[in-house]
Amino acid sequence: MAAVLARGLARGWAARGPTIFSKIIARSVPATILYEDDKCLVFRDVAPQAPVHFLVIPKRPIPRISRVGPQDTELLGHLLVVAARTAQAEGLADGYRLVINDGKHGAQSVYHLHLHVLGGRQLGWPPG
Ligand code: 5GP
Repeated sequence: MAAVLARGLARGWAARGPTIFSKIIARSVPATILYEDDKCLVFRDVAPQAPVHFLVIPKRPIPRISRVGPQDTELLGHLLVVAARTAQAEGLADGYRLVINDGKHGAQSVYHLHLHVLGGRQLGWPPG
């Protein structure tokens, strides 16, 4: 636990404090959970932007994609594999979109790294 907190401090997590996603991991805030393992949690977005919209988050509180380092390579790969497997389980056979918002210009609102997976309708490009 101390090591996890130390890593969080080093990444600037403590400056912002725990997010709503930490509370979802701790089960103090409810969510519709689709998948969980020792490294990550997958749950439906509370304000879906597509018929299927779920989030894949690491349990370790990395605040944003621009703060990751080489030590996170395996974890990030795991999140992508879990996203793809969950998309398949959700029936997104015609495709889907993965999105990671970063910081102010990326319109990130929750500073706990998360992958959005959106599908179930035709998406447009470029995004707004
Ligand atoms: P961001 O803008 O940071 O990329 O995305 C944050 C996402 O988290 C948004 O799509 C928002 O709807 C979702 N979100 C925020 N609070 C909650 C919550 O309490 N529960 C769930 N399931 N999703 C949330």
